[in-house]
Amino acid sequence: MDYLPVFLQLQARPVVVVGGGRVAARKVDLLSRAGARITVVAPDLIDELRLLADKGELQHVRAPFSASQVEGAAAVVAATGAPEINAAVSAAARARHIPVNVVDDPAASTFIFPAIVDRSPVLIAISSGGKAPVLARRVREQMEALLPARLGALARFMGERRKAVKRALRAAARRSFWESIVGGIVGKRVLAGDETQAEKDFERELRTTSLTRSAATGGRGLGECYLIGAGPGDPDLLTLRALQLLQQADVILYDRLVPAAVLERARRDAERVFVGKQTGNHTAQERINGLLVHYAHLGLRVARLKGGDPFIFGRGGEEIEVLAAHGIPYIVVPGITAALGAAASANIPLTHRKLSQSVTFVTGHVLDDDALDWKSLAGTRQTVVFYMGVGHLPQIVEKLRAAGASGDHPAAVVERATLPEQRTLRGTLQTIADIAQAANVSPPALLIVGDVTALAAADSLIGSELEALA
Ligand code: SAH
Repeated sequence: MDYLPVFLQLQARPVVVVGGGRVAARKVDLLSRAGARITVVAPDLIDELRLLADKGELQHVRAPFSASQVEGAAAVVAATGAPEINAAVSAAARARHIPVNVVDDPAASTFIFPAIVDRSPVLIAISSGGKAPVLARRVREQMEALLPARLGALARFMGERRKAVKRALRAAARRSFWESIVGGIVGKRVLAGDETQAEKDFERELRTTSLTRSAATGGRGLGECYLIGAGPGDPDLLTLRALQLLQQADVILYDRLVPAAVLERARRDAERVFVGKQTGNHTAQERINGLLVHYAHLGLRVARLKGGDPFIFGRGGEEIEVLAAHGIPYIVVPGITAALGAAASANIPLTHRKLSQSVTFVTGHVLDDDALDWKSLAGTRQTVVFYMGVGHLPQIVEKLRAAGASGDHPAAVVERATLPEQRTLRGTLQTIADIAQAANVSPPALLIVGDVTALAAADSLIGSELEALA
């Protein structure tokens, strides 16, 4: 180790920054976030620093640097851009055993500023020892993406409850209790911003632990379930929260719509259980419900990974009812639903100021009863997206036409949206069913109906081209 990483307590302590330009301003910003009482020594200040001086948030010494100015400082920063002044600042501080940083000059510094990830009170400092700042920043970006935004809130939440836990549990039990909080539903809820429910779950967990696990070192916590939207297929369209939870799950129950590339992002040693089902097969759904409850009751963290968004034609509603009925804590992570994925990757704006003022997601699965208002779906100035429509394409088109839609109303079929094999076929209500049939479209695919589908056909196959191919 070339340096010892430490965290400096600077609340209300004097720090001297020499220099009044942009580099100095960056350091002033950091130092003031750490609560330091800052003095800036410089003949002139840039506006940003001047403003802070006017507000009394820093003290400005309008004078050339002299060694006595660093007297009594807790730390000194030289940011003048003039090597001889920086060297003088460094020498003055060192002579007084005051930690000093000379910006971009590790040799003249006794401390250096790391790249930081700030989830206060959680702080992560990353340094390449001045050798490769760009690399350190890259590592920071990776950490930023990996760590939940509300990590700091979780640290505070835990900090506020330390005393209560100390009262309720013996020392031997505390550590595993806190681990179950961090890794369990309470942590997830805080990270998702639901502290009210987290508080309730925390109290229940603490009560259960103190009552049932007097040993509290062995047994597992209560199981829990994450209902996760996997997005339309491209793994890069997973949300950060989905990724974080996939890294923690012990068991993953996944659908037919979830591609291998998405599953690869899950924890290596998680058990993967395929629960793909035929449409309309109720016993399959009952089996899934049974598995969710079964694994959760083993005390496991169960991820239920569903294509698109769990609450759009995904029966997520039924699954949370089952979980609630069994008292299994769960959280729901939204995903990019197929319509949004398809729209983006086929360049079809779902709404458009001139062409479409609303968008409707419809299931093309229940055509026979009167659940759908075909007359309103047949209207113009709107976009209608049919899920699960492939097998029913001719009937859907027929219903729309019968309800008054014109034969030359534009429509498109997007097959395997966002995946490498995606195909977009464009046509009209009159032609789209034949186009899809000629191209052998197979599930999963969506039918999008509306003027917006005739826009931006530039880089996708359009209907007439496919007809020519057929
Ligand atoms: N919950 C999912 C939808 C499940 S229903 C979501 O929010 O996307 C299954 C239907 O979704 C499929 O029949 C198909 O119409 C559509 N679908 C899912 N993924 C798709 C994809 N990658 N491309 C096109 N359609 C897709």
